[in-house]
Amino acid sequence: MKVSHSINKLLNILYTYFKYSEYLKFQYKSAESIKLYQEKKLKRILEIAVNKVPFYRKYKGIIDFENFNLEELKKLPVITKDDIRKDPSVFLREDINIEGIRWKSTSGSSGKPFRVPKSYYSDAIEVILGYRAWSLGKNVYKVREPAIVLRSFSPKQGEPIFKRDWVRNFWYLSPYHINDQYLPEFIEVFKKSKAKILKGYPSSIYILTLLLKKNEIRLPQIQTIVTSSETMLPKYRSEIKKYWKCDVLDWYGQNERTVTVQQCSEGKYHNNDEYGICEVDKFNNIIATSLNNDIMPLLRYNTNDKAIPLEENEPGCSCRRGLSIPFKGIMGRSDDIIYKEGKEPIPTINFYNLMEKFQKIKQFYLLQKEDLSIEMIVSENEPLNSQDIENLTEGIKQRVGNIPLSINIVNDISRNKDTDKVKIIESKVKL
Ligand SMILES: [Zn+2]
Repeated sequence: MKVSHSINKLLNILYTYFKYSEYLKFQYKSAESIKLYQEKKLKRILEIAVNKVPFYRKYKGIIDFENFNLEELKKLPVITKDDIRKDPSVFLREDINIEGIRWKSTSGSSGKPFRVPKSYYSDAIEVILGYRAWSLGKNVYKVREPAIVLRSFSPKQGEPIFKRDWVRNFWYLSPYHINDQYLPEFIEVFKKSKAKILKGYPSSIYILTLLLKKNEIRLPQIQTIVTSSETMLPKYRSEIKKYWKCDVLDWYGQNERTVTVQQCSEGKYHNNDEYGICEVDKFNNIIATSLNNDIMPLLRYNTNDKAIPLEENEPGCSCRRGLSIPFKGIMGRSDDIIYKEGKEPIPTINFYNLMEKFQKIKQFYLLQKEDLSIEMIVSENEPLNSQDIENLTEGIKQRVGNIPLSINIVNDISRNKDTDKVKIIESKVKL
């Protein structure tokens, strides 16, 4: 297993090196030729689905493979996480040995964990599309150009607050330490790395921006800021733009790896058309079809994320990219920021990352009261034991410090009738 994992990793790196330039060119193809390319890929996935995936077998006679076009996709129903959770095996290809598959789990915007298989080159494709997203501003990103990543890194006590990924030349900075005490170390990493790219959660870049502004420090080297995984609140965007005076590009994707969409410097959201097909339903749900996952085809998959729809007669983009524009923006998750000991704000995504580790938890809701104490309620897929509760407590304490915390198990977490959503994280803290 370990050897095949290393080989897979190496192949993914090679794939990234050799294919990146092709992807850079693809975005400027004509809309018509992009459509033809999508048709070819969709046809292949649908053929696999109706022949090898139990759930889709009944659609075999319905899809017209002779006169195939993208409209054929609409003959399939929209599927939800609950549909898959009921019996994931009917969505998996029968001719694949699932023992060897790598899985990716998500806590999802509904708070319910869910897992899907990772297809062979999906790591590389994600990386390539990430690099291309970083190139949608004025600076075209080159492979191994330095980048600062203000996410996905949580150092233990006493460890340095930055680490390097030498393979990709990323400089990770801890989103847990954006404060006056660590500011000199942050600045040093910016200077040493010579990075032109800064990547992070909207809330963590927002918090960093406020800190730099307070200390009157300018970092003109940054040419492109890329945000993802959380809603880019207008308040965040205007503060960030005003301060950095560079391209601020928002990126949208999910752990399920179905579609990814990103902004260009004109502010429009372009779909990565070679990766997935993006629809928006009448309730503004983002409905995604993966063109690459042929192990568990996710076709017309309701992501539960909400888009801001395009206006009628919305003009195309002046950036001349042929990539389609599926929506005007992401409504997504509008969770509040949580504060740790000392009233220091931390991005909510850190809690989503933590909760991914607890597959026994069905849903969770985290409330921070005015006195910073935290009340958490969870519902279970499987009963939690005392060790699980201990691990969860430890995980939260690692993020928020030593503040009062209670965890209660309930049968069900109710949905908000107005928003149709389950609120996951809520803060009553007043600033
Ligand atoms: Zn554009």
